[in-house]
Amino acid sequence: MARARRAFEAWRHVSAADRGRLLRRLADGIDGRREQLARTEARNAGKPIADARGEMEMVAESFAYYAGAPERLTGKTIPVEGGVDMTFREPLGVCALIVPWNFPLVILSWKLAPALAAGNAAVVKPAELTPLSALALVDIAREAGLPDGLIEVVAGKGSVVGRRLVEHPDVAKVAFTGSTEVGRGIAAGAAQTIKRVTLELGGKSANVVFADADLSAAAAAAPMAVFGNAGQDCCARSRILVERPAVDDFLAAMRDVVRGLRVGDPLDEATQMGPLISAGQRETVAAFVPDDRHVAFRGSAPDGPGFWYPPTVLYPVDRHDRAVAEEIFGPVAAVLPFDTEAEAIALANDTIYGLSGSIWTRDGARALRMARAVEAGTLSVNSNTSVRVGTPFGGMKQSGIGRELGPDALEAYTEVKNVYFSTA
Ligand code: NDP
Repeated sequence: MARARRAFEAWRHVSAADRGRLLRRLADGIDGRREQLARTEARNAGKPIADARGEMEMVAESFAYYAGAPERLTGKTIPVEGGVDMTFREPLGVCALIVPWNFPLVILSWKLAPALAAGNAAVVKPAELTPLSALALVDIAREAGLPDGLIEVVAGKGSVVGRRLVEHPDVAKVAFTGSTEVGRGIAAGAAQTIKRVTLELGGKSANVVFADADLSAAAAAAPMAVFGNAGQDCCARSRILVERPAVDDFLAAMRDVVRGLRVGDPLDEATQMGPLISAGQRETVAAFVPDDRHVAFRGSAPDGPGFWYPPTVLYPVDRHDRAVAEEIFGPVAAVLPFDTEAEAIALANDTIYGLSGSIWTRDGARALRMARAVEAGTLSVNSNTSVRVGTPFGGMKQSGIGRELGPDALEAYTEVKNVYFSTA
């Protein structure tokens, strides 16, 4: 904390152009090590190497995007009587970035890039299970010429290190991604010293498919929107709501895709889904499906070492079943039928969460009505994508507070200062 504090005092005075230049060099450094970082991340988190490569591209892109930010971080002049009024966007200080194990370096980059661009220093706490890529990043930052102390990594338990950062009087802001339960504790802890918080928490997103949609496209895309990263994704569209006349065709098309998914060794180029992160996570996931009563079909999973769990689709299943109501964070999807647009909205919103979701239809007016009615921060129409570096990402309701990425994230790492200058 002391090193980060000293680095902040110097970094905040580095010119906007130089801050941008250094972030660009960091982006290039990451780009140059993409393959090595991807392999580290695949081992770190047990994720398919092809996915890890895509993630490393996004990490480099995040720093490249925010390299352009320092020079765009402008204030306003406001007409007032008797003088000139102007605003400045000041950095906050040292930001604590607490990240989870599901997308270790990507989620770190979403926080670190705007934090540094805005003139802050960072103390990073990676998840206990996946510290390797965050540690590798510090070396790349040093080689790129970023000052020592600007990015400190403290690996260790959340209940010890994470908690200390939340309580620490020199931490100005906590940016956290993880479970809603821990997020709740962080909000309470941060309140003691009125720290700024950005919370990106759980989800139980709805993938709403109307009968007029391109059903084969929707059914082909639905499995990886839940089973990508073995379902350990806060945006997982694990509640698939299908208009009743389309349910049979949709399930038949989805079954073929799920049975064809390649589940296996993360370092095998062809692998689409790897194992779960830990034995504990597999136990948690398995408890949501105590028997095969509601299982419509499953994909495969290898035998042998690894915390394997097969992609699993539940249908028919009661909307109040735990597997429908709670975040599973594993490869389990539930299909629910609906009869009207109003019922689709009610089902989609029947959750404490509001992170992401999709609407599949060929009716443009309905797509827009649904997009406005679904209580979620990040929606897509005829697509299951949630995240782009240049657009805001985050949740409504108990999925979090604040937005990451895009122009909004930058503002969340600054404070507006207003200065009145009398010309009398
Ligand atoms: P947690 O919320 O426990 O962990 C996320 C991060 O917070 C980790 O770095 C963790 O450290 C840290 N942490 C834990 N306790 C505290 C604390 N008291 N104060 C400060 N930091 C803390 O998630 P888990 O990894 O345990 O996963 C549990 C569930 O959370 C999942 O099953 C899933 O439902 C949800 N989750 C959601 C994610 C998302 O993307 N929204 C990401 C990960 C999990 P450490 O690893 O050392 O415990």
